[in-house]
Amino acid sequence: MYAIGEKPGIGSYRDESGHTITLNDPDDALPPCSRCGRFQTTTWTRVP
Ligand SMILES: [Zn+2]
Repeated sequence: MYAIGEKPGIGSYRDESGHTITLNDPDDALPPCSRCGRFQTTTWTRVP
């Protein structure tokens, strides 16, 4: 699992609530989940 601010590379990631995001650039950092709210701690898991 990855925390906000990590740069795990291109791919899709899902949080505990099932929301998904996609990083399109190897230099992109994982953001807070926009749907959970910016002040919530979000842990992202890579989607296969
Ligand atoms: Zn979320």
